[in-house]
Amino acid sequence: MGLYVLKFGGTSVGSIKRIENVAEIVAERRKQHQVVVVLSAMSGETDALLEMAKNYSFEPHARELDVLLTTGEQKSVALCCICLHSKGIAAKSFLGSQIPIRTTDDFTRARISEIPTEKLRASLERGEIVVVPGFQGVTDGADLTTLGRGGSDTTAVALAAALKADLCDIYTDVDGVYTTDPNVEPKARRLSQITYDEMLESASLGAKVLQTRSVEFAKKYRVPVRVLSTFKKGPGTWVVEESKMMESLVVSGITYTKNEAKVIVEGMKDRVGIAADLFGLIGEAGIGVDVIVQNVSKDGTTDISFTVPRSDLRRTLETLQKAQGLLQFGQVRGDDRISKVSVIGNGMRSHSGVAAQTFKALAKENINIQMISTSEIKISCVVDEKYTELAVRILHESFKLDQIEPKEVNDFRS
Ligand code: ADP
Ligand code: ASP
Ligand code: MG
Repeated sequence: MGLYVLKFGGTSVGSIKRIENVAEIVAERRKQHQVVVVLSAMSGETDALLEMAKNYSFEPHARELDVLLTTGEQKSVALCCICLHSKGIAAKSFLGSQIPIRTTDDFTRARISEIPTEKLRASLERGEIVVVPGFQGVTDGADLTTLGRGGSDTTAVALAAALKADLCDIYTDVDGVYTTDPNVEPKARRLSQITYDEMLESASLGAKVLQTRSVEFAKKYRVPVRVLSTFKKGPGTWVVEESKMMESLVVSGITYTKNEAKVIVEGMKDRVGIAADLFGLIGEAGIGVDVIVQNVSKDGTTDISFTVPRSDLRRTLETLQKAQGLLQFGQVRGDDRISKVSVIGNGMRSHSGVAAQTFKALAKENINIQMISTSEIKISCVVDEKYTELAVRILHESFKLDQIEPKEVNDFRS
């Protein structure tokens, strides 16, 4: 008998009928194994709760927002347990605060710090299916917290790590991790396997199929993760260590994100320490900076452009305007109509030419690259937002990702 963590996303529990379908999948697995189930809120529920709060305030108090948002997942687990009981199957729900899933007190984006497993193990030993709401935790001071959008993935992988489960299955509305978002490019292909590092880059650069934090947990604790469909049977995609990969693709995926904005600081005096001063101020304001470009200095002045989360653009501009005297720049502007398109692949570590091919493919379609950033396994280009989908599709085609044949792989269960 093994121990499995099964996570079901919002669409998978999106209606009474769908929760019943989940109960059937879970009950089937329970015949041979111990099972911990992690559930999201029903699809649209978290957005609807956020909208309700916005009736009163554009920036609702984060602690109260978390009290509100945790109700979505709470509803799903209660309904799932009631459904399992109606089929004569033993199941028990445990809220984040009951386990307790301990987190930091960064409301709406808390990080898990500890998960004691005694209560869950005792329940499993009693033969019960353990049902846990994703996305939620509790601080040492007993305040409710949430883990950021998509956080149920992180709950599932963290529970799998804490319980030393054999596998964490992420059930969703697509049958695996694809070469790009299959809802943008119908020619996207399912990958049979992907490394933790590739998945980390993909998640943080826009592939929302797994939350970035969940992949960090999986990598750190070596949790085997499989992404598969709730609605159709299939082998899914294994997310595994590089050493276990059968083969590395040079490029395995294209991602995009539209949640950044560009800040352009023009006519800055080009003196030693100017970048330190500028980014020091942004850092003190708690704003994360991503791509940075500094132009060649002309007549003793230079321009610096960088990207920040779109939700922080207004605050970034205000912070810089207040510091115009100290930083001695001409003007500062913001542009929130940009997107970042990225080419990702483990094989880039040993192959050259991917950057050139990326730039050539974009140039051929007359797509101007505004900024570039690279790591060992990715190349990101900031482009005009209106070209996002086109850029994704032409890069997908240029790297022949539509021709990948998924080779089904061995079972990576520990
Ligand atoms: P869930 O509600 O199950 O957590 P999400 O909506 O968070 O599901 O994630 C699944 C969605 O991620 C898919 O419907 C798909 O549109 C999107 N997605 C983006 N990039 C990828 C990718 N590379 N592979 C698979 N799905 C992707
Ligand atoms: N319900 C939360 C969200 O919509 C968490 C999740 O589904 O993973 O972001
Ligand atoms: Mg999700």
